[in-house]
Amino acid sequence: MCIHVTAEQAFDWSIRLTKQVDFNCLTNEIVAILTSIAGVTEVNAYEVYAGRQVKSSGEPDITKKVIRRFPVDFTLLEQDDEYIELLSNMPSGDVLQVVDFKAEKLALMQVHHCVGPERAILIMGQINTAMLDVFRYLLAIYTNQVILHDYKERDLLTHLPNRQTFDSRFFQVCDYFREHQLHRELHDKGSWIAMLDIDYFKRVNDEYGHQCGDEVLLHFSQLMEQSFRYNDFLFRFGGEEFVVILNLVEMDFARMVLERFRKAVAQYQFPMVGKITVSMGVTHIDSESMPVALLGDADAALYHAKHSGRDRLVFYEEM
Ligand code: GH3
Ligand code: MG
Ligand code: MG
Repeated sequence: MCIHVTAEQAFDWSIRLTKQVDFNCLTNEIVAILTSIAGVTEVNAYEVYAGRQVKSSGEPDITKKVIRRFPVDFTLLEQDDEYIELLSNMPSGDVLQVVDFKAEKLALMQVHHCVGPERAILIMGQINTAMLDVFRYLLAIYTNQVILHDYKERDLLTHLPNRQTFDSRFFQVCDYFREHQLHRELHDKGSWIAMLDIDYFKRVNDEYGHQCGDEVLLHFSQLMEQSFRYNDFLFRFGGEEFVVILNLVEMDFARMVLERFRKAVAQYQFPMVGKITVSMGVTHIDSESMPVALLGDADAALYHAKHSGRDRLVFYEEM
């Protein structure tokens, strides 16, 4: 099969890819474009993290690569995907390669060196050389756009999604609960929002300097990456404040996970600075409260944690 791309088609694809407003829209668009090419039967996109936990129970497994199928479905605890194994041992080298999978040949596209996690796209179908040329051009545009969106959507110090990204993600989670009318009991599995604020951080800057403060923030975000699971959402909210959205856990489990993180921070030896602690305010995301109100509740719980001695976790539901 031969693929012939007219100038009109090439411009149309370029325009479609460059007009997308965020990473999610961009990735949906590249998947749609690739899927429309004759001979392509299926296209999957992935985010590749190193260091996140895989399971919701047990000890942290911080060495394993975590592959998230795009778009992340936070309502599913484990993603079942036959290509995960292939991606875990993703061949390095050329950003576009043909890889063997069972009896098939797949095209594998990779995006490296961006602010966010590495990205991978798998293309299934009858892959031939002429198609690969087209894929290579599309990948080049996609890569440029991913880099731009990452700059906009992520915090450049910690590489975590930033405040703006938090807003849209949080609305999305709240919408899900509202649409499904999930007014669940606290002991049922649900989502939780935790506001994290480092204790006495101003002192770190005052005593050791701003650069050292930045280093602490970086180590703190790395501890977060290691402590939470692949289907939890982590953000740098601003300054020394972070947010975690824990998905599909009951209250006791949320408490266990957050307490484990609090202890991990308290025990960690931060370079130069030594010990620091974190206070957290948490609330349950239900179907009835508006996102702003939920954020206010988590903030109130955080305020309570600060004023009752810091280095602790307070649930709004228990105040
Ligand atoms: P508390 O326990 O009440 O939270 O005390 P705190 O000192 O942590 O709280 P406060 O909000 O007074 O201080 C936060 C400090 O965080 C102030 C600011 O200088 C510092 N900060 C904010 N963003 C950054 C950053 O990107 N890098 C560094 N190094 N410092 C930052
Ligand atoms: Mg603060
Ligand atoms: Mg603080």
